[in-house]
Amino acid sequence: MSSLDEAETLGERFIRELADHMMRKYHERHEELRKRLGGDVDELYFVHELCECRRKRLMRKLYPELELARLFEPQIMLGELVHVAVESLTQSQHEVLKHKTLEEDGKKVRIVGTIDIYHPESETVVEVKYARKLDSDTPLEHHKLQASLYAWLANAKTAEIWYITPEGIRTYYQIEPINENDVKTLIKNLKIPMWPKWECRYCQYINVCGANSRF
Ligand code: SF4
Repeated sequence: MSSLDEAETLGERFIRELADHMMRKYHERHEELRKRLGGDVDELYFVHELCECRRKRLMRKLYPELELARLFEPQIMLGELVHVAVESLTQSQHEVLKHKTLEEDGKKVRIVGTIDIYHPESETVVEVKYARKLDSDTPLEHHKLQASLYAWLANAKTAEIWYITPEGIRTYYQIEPINENDVKTLIKNLKIPMWPKWECRYCQYINVCGANSRF
């Protein structure tokens, strides 16, 4: 009997199905892709891993429970519902898998990413972000970096970021693809944390990571 069969009400079934969907999308699919696309290269990075503290790769392996627990935070679940709604309302392709392989320091390195929305006719990728509020500094630097990496992976001309928030919807466009040299710099980037002003504060590993900059 699966855990879904244990649900007694429609509401319980819905929450369980959402949780299963998120586990598949953010955890099982990554594991499967790492196995499928990582076998013939020395290193594999997902796009999000190039945009964050390098120590998180190790933390994820050591404490997979903390990553899974984060999926059940209301903000993350709501964000996923927004993603599903936005993707289903666009006529473009969504959840598009792309990858490229580079040589760096004699090693074969593969970069893999799943693009929220890809519009082949306009050669544009779209990154959808759910946020609590709109800040004066949106689009945020790490979101721009992520979008530019997706544009490069897809050989797209440009990227857009769509912020969906309770304060309003704001879209940004004309974000240029990153170039290959900058991707190589990111691969070598060992910054811990990568975004010192805020990254540790929002990190799920803060209570077990000796390198955090909380104090
Ligand atoms: S707590 Fe800070 S240093 Fe540790 S993994 Fe998280 S972001 Fe990196």
